[in-house]
Amino acid sequence: MSGPARLLTIVDAEFALDGGSMMGVVPRALWQKQHPPDARNRIPLVSRFAVVDDPGAGRLWLLDCGLGRDWSPKQLDLYDIRPRGADARALLRDAGFDPDSVTDVVLTHLHFDHAGGLAKRDAAGKLTLAFPAARHHVQASHLAWARSPTAKDAGSFRADHVALLEASGRVNPVDGSASLGGAVAVRALRGHTPGLQLPLVEADGGPYLFLADLVPVWSHLRLPWIMAYDNEPLVTLEEKRALLEEAASRGWVLISEHDPSEAMKTLERATGDIKRAGHGSNAK
Ligand SMILES: [Zn+2]
Repeated sequence: MSGPARLLTIVDAEFALDGGSMMGVVPRALWQKQHPPDARNRIPLVSRFAVVDDPGAGRLWLLDCGLGRDWSPKQLDLYDIRPRGADARALLRDAGFDPDSVTDVVLTHLHFDHAGGLAKRDAAGKLTLAFPAARHHVQASHLAWARSPTAKDAGSFRADHVALLEASGRVNPVDGSASLGGAVAVRALRGHTPGLQLPLVEADGGPYLFLADLVPVWSHLRLPWIMAYDNEPLVTLEEKRALLEEAASRGWVLISEHDPSEAMKTLERATGDIKRAGHGSNAK
């Protein structure tokens, strides 16, 4: 059956990261009301991926693939990971899709909370691709970075998952902003990490921009709210300014990967919500 592409979002897991790391230079006094931290100063997040059913192109896309389930008890505790359902394959089945018909996985980048779901353990405990038939689209510059990250960001990568992906022969290295065919194109950025790519999807009710870690939760729509994880925060600032201007003028629907509240908002709606929440003098 052909027709316009259709996009939906699925939450793979709830988790939590240090509130200070998430909000960068913004004081806790300004973010704690909207993001109440737990006793270990972690704020609630979700790992959300999107599915794009693209019958016109005969493709079934995933935009990122969740945290996955390949985590030790220590890691589950550190990041307060609480999975929903058995795994992304089971969540897809629940949503009416055959996980074996996923043709394309667009990885915005390889930080574990976006790409952990690319790997799973087989019955013998061996690490394998969760979607072995799919092409995995990653920026070539990001793959090179992930192979040898700096001491600052090495903790955001699973070296074993990166090695598995590289050895699989299922990688499409993407060079900059590009169309990936069908309903999906990507915009390449570099402030958060070299070769972050944001999917832009032509689908029913869209176009949709998948924000990944340019705007991890809606609060980050404020220009100075930039994560301490970012390698080049001033580049992020300019990338965010430019892309949000474009989103406003083109009426894109924005998708948040980590906000526990709503998955999708127009910029107009999101900005209105932020104004109503209020955040003192540092809020822009
Ligand atoms: Zn990231």
